Amino acid sequence: MNPKPQHNSAPQLGQMVRIAKEELGAIVQELRERGYRTILPKVADGAVIYDEAEDASALPIGVIDEQDAARYRLRESGQSGYFDYVVGPHAVKQYLFPPVETLLRADRVDGAWSFETPKPECEPTAIIGVRACDLHAIAIQDRVFLEGAYVDEGYRARREKLVLIAVNCRRAAITCFCHSMGTGPAVKRGFDLSLTELEEEFAVEVGSSLGSEVMAACRWSPCTDSETGEVRAIPERLERKMVEGGRGFVDGEDEAGNARELDIRGIRDLLVNNLDHKHWDAVAERCLSCANCTMVCPTCFCASVDEVSDLTGDHVSRERTWGSCFNAEHSYMNSGVVRHTIRSRYRQWLVHKLATWIDQFDTSGCVGCGRCITWCPVGIDLTEEVAAIRETQT
Ligand code: SF4
Ligand code: SF4
Repeated sequence: MNPKPQHNSAPQLGQMVRIAKEELGAIVQELRERGYRTILPKVADGAVIYDEAEDASALPIGVIDEQDAARYRLRESGQSGYFDYVVGPHAVKQYLFPPVETLLRADRVDGAWSFETPKPECEPTAIIGVRACDLHAIAIQDRVFLEGAYVDEGYRARREKLVLIAVNCRRAAITCFCHSMGTGPAVKRGFDLSLTELEEEFAVEVGSSLGSEVMAACRWSPCTDSETGEVRAIPERLERKMVEGGRGFVDGEDEAGNARELDIRGIRDLLVNNLDHKHWDAVAERCLSCANCTMVCPTCFCASVDEVSDLTGDHVSRERTWGSCFNAEHSYMNSGVVRHTIRSRYRQWLVHKLATWIDQFDTSGCVGCGRCITWCPVGIDLTEEVAAIRETQT
């Protein structure tokens, strides 16, 4: 496809168009002019993370990641891709469910207490570069925070002001197993705009009326039906490659390593019926109970609520902070801690994530992003743990 930018009008909802890569800057600019804080991927401390940026200049162009159990490295790809790295330690979770949130404040003035419930912080936010697995993770957290008996008002307020510019992956890391979970690599729903990276252009699919309006800031050309078919075939080819055990660039050589997959057939019953399997002891001998896996997981939602006072005792706030089922105190009840052992805590995490989450929310709690494998300091890999239980189930 050759860039022949023509339009400065709004494309239709559902339409596929193409833009020169530099036009991504115009999309970011337009979002900022509309009052959105723009969050883009960038390299910091040796990893690709999300951070606020005023333009697209900090994008990690030409950078890819090498991931494996307990291993993450960035290197130059020798190519000029804007989005050829895969998922880093940050997910969208922090922008909807902040790591620390003040729920209540109490202040003593002249001996009398006054109480205030602060309004949730909900700055309009646009996130650029969101992958298919993370869009599914947002949909899962929507069920948790919005669709049960108790709606989280802060989450709801932030979700309503969130714009998602998604990216179809054209490369997969060996830790990725979205193909097993049915969550990727193709972006299918839940986006305002969806980018597919080509050699010199982006193909852009319009997913919302806001996305359509934002595109009016760009010079774009409509894709023909055959070009649209070629664009859609890119993540489909990557998915086939993943199913066949290959990883790396969609049309490139396979990257070396143990490509992950997860056999999810009957997985709920497999785990629920093997709570006393001896393999839980083997995992517990390695697990540090550090909670890294739950911090990086885009769907984990445990939190703890604490009253925090200043040294005078005149100002107290009730703060919700990210918690983890790996912390012993997370299971503290009036009779004490219920899950005393690392074995019981790891088992709780995995069985909930892959089995009882289905009972609770009618979906798996895992989207196959592989983050918990990469960021576990001792390289515990949930795909291997489930396979070990499946092979030796009683
Ligand atoms: S359990 Fe692991 S692979 Fe699954 S969504 Fe969470 S971090 Fe990703
Ligand atoms: S599985 Fe790994 S990351 Fe998770 S708590 Fe255990 S040691 Fe930490």
